[in-house]
Amino acid sequence: MGLFSLKREKKGDREILRLEGAITGDAGLEFIKLYDGISPKCTFNFRNVISINSQGLQVWTMFLRDFVNDHEVQLEECPPVIVSQMNMLPSFVQQAKVTSIYVPYFCEACNKVNSLIMEARQFPKGDQEMKPPACPTCKGEQELDDFDYFYFLSYLNDR
Ligand SMILES: [Zn+2]
Repeated sequence: MGLFSLKREKKGDREILRLEGAITGDAGLEFIKLYDGISPKCTFNFRNVISINSQGLQVWTMFLRDFVNDHEVQLEECPPVIVSQMNMLPSFVQQAKVTSIYVPYFCEACNKVNSLIMEARQFPKGDQEMKPPACPTCKGEQELDDFDYFYFLSYLNDR
């Protein structure tokens, strides 16, 4: 558990790259292999990533810097552990397109954080207020668990 793995899967003219476990410096070896016969259109799926350390961040951003030049890159199902890096570090995304993220909502009644998927078309625009969805357990009201969670949109919208 926790070891990094990367699975490749063809889906039409696109390749889905499923990252799993902890992204550390070792992940760089897997990223390099991607240059071998990969589709020009790639989607990195972060759903099962549990953590990323500073060496992992370094190998990812260095890999992506080069890779986005000749590939159309999408990042999908990014969990909070990835979104918080995106918020601190624009180089995590660069010219890639973020297609979906998990958003943590807090339900006071259940005293629980629920991370729910949000597609890019549902991302809040400008100062638009976001209405959190109902709690999946008790159907009660939830609050966004992190006030600055959508900070990364400010630099994505700028380009
Ligand atoms: Zn609830």
